[in-house]
Amino acid sequence: TAALHLAGVERSYREGEGKLAVLRGVDLTLEPGELVALVAPSGAGKSTLLHIAALLERADKGSVSVAGVETTGLGDAALTELRRASIGMIYQFHHLLPDFTALENVTLPMRLAGADKKVADSAAHALLSELDVDRRAGHRPGELSGGERQRVAIARAVANRPAVLLADEPTGNLDPGTAEHVFNAFVRLARSTGLSALVATHNHELADRMDRRVTLVDGRCETL
Ligand code: ADP
Ligand code: ADP
Repeated sequence: TAALHLAGVERSYREGEGKLAVLRGVDLTLEPGELVALVAPSGAGKSTLLHIAALLERADKGSVSVAGVETTGLGDAALTELRRASIGMIYQFHHLLPDFTALENVTLPMRLAGADKKVADSAAHALLSELDVDRRAGHRPGELSGGERQRVAIARAVANRPAVLLADEPTGNLDPGTAEHVFNAFVRLARSTGLSALVATHNHELADRMDRRVTLVDGRCETL
């Protein structure tokens, strides 16, 4: 079963009197364990594509399946449930909860999914260790460096072992050395856990280290 499968996905936005067709038939499949970079200029539709794949927005046309579940006919509650169970997201800015420690930010999704506190704490420490930031487990986001915050955000996004991780410019806010460092930690973690990920990035060097690169041309997905 593919981790993510998009077929003929179309999406347009209202623009004045007319319509702006952003996605015009996107076909894209991520196999389990595959790391795919999405490299395209600003305005090409990367965020739109990621939001549709994340089940945050609906396609006008076409089909989206996550971990083998076809989502077209699903209602909002079922979409939300599938998103919580199967999708992890990382953004350019971290979206961590400011009043919670790094550890609590990572355990929160596990606890919401029903995990016991001891089990969640130990799994979160293991993830933070793999990302080389466990020594900061007791600190709040405001006390962490930019690179450390993104590591914690990655740990939180993968805490419930999502079928697919979607990342929108995850290192876009970091200086090049820190970006590379965080990206290395991410790839190492993804490889060791068999994570599937679609990562939008402007950084070609980082994109080259993924399994495959795709782009958006005239609203369609092409392999680079
Ligand atoms: P990218 O992430 O590649 O920069 P986006 O998906 O953010 O591209 O945007 C693609 C195009 O769609 C842009 O022209 C943008 O202005 C437009 N767009 C994105 N979201 C909306 C929206 N909610 N309403 C109207 N237009 C939008
Ligand atoms: P930041 O650099 O924002 O403090 P990182 O998570 O990137 O956060 O850094 C974690 C650790 O890795 C720190 O000890 C930092 O000194 C080190 N580090 C960061 N960038 C590099 C780099 N390019 N090469 C070697 N070590 C680095």
